[in-house]
Amino acid sequence: MSTANPNAKTWTPRDAEDYYGFRRWGANHFSADKDGFLRVHPLGDERAIRILDIIREAESMGVRPPLTIRVQDMLRARVTRLNEAFRKAIREEAYDGDYRGVFPTKVNQLREVVEEILDAGEKYDFGLEAGSKPELLIALAFLENKNALLVCNGYKDDDYIRLALMGRRLGKRTIIVIEQLSELDSIIRLARETGVEPHIGLRLKLTTAGEGKWADSTGENAKFGLAASEIVVAVRKLKRARMTDCLRLVHFHIGSQVPNIATIKKAVTEAARYYCELVRLGFPMGILDVGGGLGVDYDGSRSNYESSMNYSMEAYARDVIANVKAVCTQASIAVPDITSESGRALVAPHSILVFEVVDRIARADAESEPMRGKRPSLVKEMERLVENKDKLDALERFHDGKQKKEEAHSLFGLGYLGLEARAEVDRLFWLLCRDIREKLPASGEIPDELAGLDKLLAEQYVCNFSVFQSLLDHWALGQLFPIAPIHRLDEKPTVPTTLADITCDSDGKVTSFIDLEDVKSTLNLHPLQPGKRYYIGAFLVGAYQDIMGDLHNLFGRVSEAHVFLEDDEANGFYIEETIQGSTAAGILGMIQYSAEDLCRMLKRQIDRATRNDEVRPREGVAMLEQYERIIQSKTYLVSGKQRPPKKTARTRSN
Ligand SMILES: *Cc1c(COP(=O)(O)O)cnc(C)c1O
Repeated sequence: MSTANPNAKTWTPRDAEDYYGFRRWGANHFSADKDGFLRVHPLGDERAIRILDIIREAESMGVRPPLTIRVQDMLRARVTRLNEAFRKAIREEAYDGDYRGVFPTKVNQLREVVEEILDAGEKYDFGLEAGSKPELLIALAFLENKNALLVCNGYKDDDYIRLALMGRRLGKRTIIVIEQLSELDSIIRLARETGVEPHIGLRLKLTTAGEGKWADSTGENAKFGLAASEIVVAVRKLKRARMTDCLRLVHFHIGSQVPNIATIKKAVTEAARYYCELVRLGFPMGILDVGGGLGVDYDGSRSNYESSMNYSMEAYARDVIANVKAVCTQASIAVPDITSESGRALVAPHSILVFEVVDRIARADAESEPMRGKRPSLVKEMERLVENKDKLDALERFHDGKQKKEEAHSLFGLGYLGLEARAEVDRLFWLLCRDIREKLPASGEIPDELAGLDKLLAEQYVCNFSVFQSLLDHWALGQLFPIAPIHRLDEKPTVPTTLADITCDSDGKVTSFIDLEDVKSTLNLHPLQPGKRYYIGAFLVGAYQDIMGDLHNLFGRVSEAHVFLEDDEANGFYIEETIQGSTAAGILGMIQYSAEDLCRMLKRQIDRATRNDEVRPREGVAMLEQYERIIQSKTYLVSGKQRPPKKTARTRSN
């Protein structure tokens, strides 16, 4: 065995923070402590919780990874930060209107998330946005603040519109945003029928196109919104119906995760022009809704790369306010109140997915036994290279090794080299590559071919989770999420890895990772230690992933723990609530299998086998019990022995 990497001793938790980017993408919310544990700072101040402590606590309450940890204080902190950013911008720009934001529920509809946002947003009159009937049903029941807005987007049938009108009757600031011209006719008809005066908004189809992965929400071919000519028609219809008073808002949404502030400025300016024109045409208006798009800096590079954003929340607020003001001032029109529908930026950071590495798929060459018996000259030459007897430089060694390996493969094909010798050459080549990689300088120029060694040497770590359930956008859009171990950060991570999930789908994997304005194909993790658990976190996963996740292979939802800061608790936190992940019975029920029926069907087969003397009665009973127990259990892997929950020694790793 080779000894530990000579650099390992100099590795500190600071190096881990740097390598995994905790301080970059995590802002002030993540740090590694001196014992190598990752801590979350819910409020971005010095108060911190070890993530492993949360897992221990959750385990003592009966839920184990894969686990979604919701840091509720972080959610509050984001709501406060967004509202304060707009308040500050309004003050600094001497803007003569208010900010009344709404949370777009589709980004995370979980009750505890919506409740927390409304609670934190109460003093800012923060409202909700709905894009479907079920979302509107939530919003109508939960949003009681009469000063807050309830923005109704999405495709609408009569019932959707009736619900929105019901909101108006109850004194809520419900605004129906027209996405398609046809909706306007229905609204006019239903307003007459019910005698309720609706408040209406128009969604604009801007010329300014978004940018990045979600750019298709805008531009001429967008699925939503009214083009200039359709706005003219809408305006006429409203006037003809004597509903001029109803038009209160213009809205646009240029797609999620806009990396470049220039795009936002352009869109805001264009929308403000529409706003001024509609005021000029005699509508009361009052609100400009700048939609979503406020980004999250997933790689921490603060650039206009698609995983990043080249502006802060504060700069965003300032640019929205300043640009609206500029357009309105020029047109001599009173500035509107501003609303935004920022979803991703509010909820992405609060959620951490933790899962366990349950196995590794090493390169077969790396694990094979050295060759016994007489070694052909090709093998001896390869050994010479591994020992570097000729003092070649790294690139030369790599090239020579590759050539010898190819030679071995073709000699094997022609029948001039035996199986053992070929396997030995493969094994030595792997050793050679590992040696070259270990001796590469930590910094400085590394030739492309050698930079590719990580990929060549990478092991797959098999992780107890499903990409399709928990990181859907990674599979669907190639979106990158920060991923890192949550302990052992005081140890140098020496194994280049990619992650494989436990679905039977070769797409169920993570093979691209954040890098500064770039993507890297492997992530360095720690060697697994027999009998010890190794936990990995995926971060900034609170937006969209929860609901979009699917049932591939019937794994279903993971368990959850909702964490709050608490001064009185020894750990400084408490888990207010846990939600159990899916059980097999629950998931099977969703696709029309009743657990009861399945058990009955199996029992019939066991009974028959017992009658036929193929199975002893006692064994038959045990089988049925086992089937019944497993059908009521969770879907994810239960690894190793279930240790009884420990109450003490929470701060110790492993
Ligand atoms: C999805 C959506 C949002 C949320 O966008 P984020 O980029 O997550 O803030 C806002 N408005 C509308 C109309 C949407 O469809």
